[in-house]
Amino acid sequence: MEQYLPHPTIATIQNYIDGKLYNPVSDRWIDNVQPATGMVYGRIAASDRSDVEKAIDAAQAAFNAWSKLPASKRSDHLLALADLMERDLELLAEIESFDNGKPLHVARTVDITRSITNIRFFATAILHQSSECHETEPGVLNFTLRQPLGVVACISPWNLPLYLFTWKIAPALAAGNTVVAKPSEITPATAFYFSQLCTEAGIPAGVINVLHGPGQAIGEPLIADPRVKAVSFTGGTATGASIAAMAAPRFKKMSLELGGKNATLVFADCDFERTVSETARAAFSNQGQICLCGSRIFIERSIYEDFKKAFVEKVKALKVGDPSDSASTIGAIVSEIHLNKVLSYVKLAKEEGGTLLCGGKRIELNGGFFMEPTVFEGLDPYCRTNQEEIFGPVVTLFPFDSEEQAVEYANCTPYGLAFSVWTSNLNRAHKLSSELQAGIVWINCWMLRDLRTPFGGMKQSGVGREGGWDALRFFTEAKNVCVKSS
Ligand code: NDP
Repeated sequence: MEQYLPHPTIATIQNYIDGKLYNPVSDRWIDNVQPATGMVYGRIAASDRSDVEKAIDAAQAAFNAWSKLPASKRSDHLLALADLMERDLELLAEIESFDNGKPLHVARTVDITRSITNIRFFATAILHQSSECHETEPGVLNFTLRQPLGVVACISPWNLPLYLFTWKIAPALAAGNTVVAKPSEITPATAFYFSQLCTEAGIPAGVINVLHGPGQAIGEPLIADPRVKAVSFTGGTATGASIAAMAAPRFKKMSLELGGKNATLVFADCDFERTVSETARAAFSNQGQICLCGSRIFIERSIYEDFKKAFVEKVKALKVGDPSDSASTIGAIVSEIHLNKVLSYVKLAKEEGGTLLCGGKRIELNGGFFMEPTVFEGLDPYCRTNQEEIFGPVVTLFPFDSEEQAVEYANCTPYGLAFSVWTSNLNRAHKLSSELQAGIVWINCWMLRDLRTPFGGMKQSGVGREGGWDALRFFTEAKNVCVKSS
């Protein structure tokens, strides 16, 4: 391997089971590709049923001791882990950027910083968890125990690799469960490095197990195993449906965070300059590969032309380039397959009568998977380009004439994850917040996250909520205890 690697160990991504690194039982491997160069830089364990069984065995064996530790001890373990992540923040950011294609400064300031916060947030939240007590009548008390479930499966996607991985495992572990986690095979590197930090932090063997390889091979044996009590999944809606089909007949708890096709509603009374800049950020951050990105921008007709001009100028100024260059605002798309999928939507948008305002093409740079940020107008809100999740740097602009029409357009897809509204009219902001069918409505901001809030989607964007107490409730079973004094 002659290519530069941020850390030598990421050339071979092994499974982490029972506190140790293992090759896959089958000794089968898949290639790991660097998006910014298209080069194979290493290999990933292609795990299958045998590895899944080994990991569940380890997690099951560790559950009793881990779940019986006082919350303060579990918290100490997680805080020690967070400290090591902070020590290695720069290295983790380099690995994330290298493996995913995102700009290094984004990996540093968003992904890894937030991953550390995820761990610290739940490590301390668990210290403040309390349960309800109901006095039914004098001498009769009902109280609620919240007990960990057992072994839980956490399956995460490639777009915010360590960020979403830790967002799941932190509440699961804090609540006293043991975990079998599966990061995306497309971006396994930070989860692999993280598993080595778990050993260094002294997390007891078997408490966290990380399996690498194709979701198709790992998913079924993991979800079907009766010892796995809950599945927390973030990924595409089609995958979510197949996971639900496996988990539901087995009566497992499920949290599904799925796709989005988010609307951005821009009213004439918005703070114009700020709105242009923030909506461009909302559209193209992480190459448009965030489930929260606003890819359908509806603009009040009276400012449509002015907004369009300013927005397109802003987008043309975005710099697509080498992720390690601090001047790059947009890095590489995560894989060639995904790049081709995104480009196929550019073709579709043209076929559907869209007018290309900027972008639309692959950029040839170092053999990597780069693409111009792309803006269309003239596409009906109900056409396929505006209904299907593209999950890349492609957005559409469309005018609206009234609040009612803006709400209709925003709500007209099968998804309902995160919308943003840009207006200085507080009454309108409140009215729209209640009418928009989305799990999150941002008013005059985007991706401003408070980890205590419920996070999740409506409609085909998911089932359940993550974050804060919702996450700790998901990863625990509520047990009612009724005591009558004699
Ligand atoms: P996928 O649904 O393809 O994959 C997500 C994860 O599921 C990966 O780890 C994948 O493994 C695994 N997987 C695939 N098939 C199965 C299976 N049959 N059983 C179990 N696991 C399986 O999504 P992407 O990774 O492509 O991520 C992009 C999607 O995620 C977008 O739709 C995006 O909107 C959504 N997303 C949603 C968020 C939310 O909070 N609502 C946040 C971020 C992303 P492998 O990669 O190895 O195939």
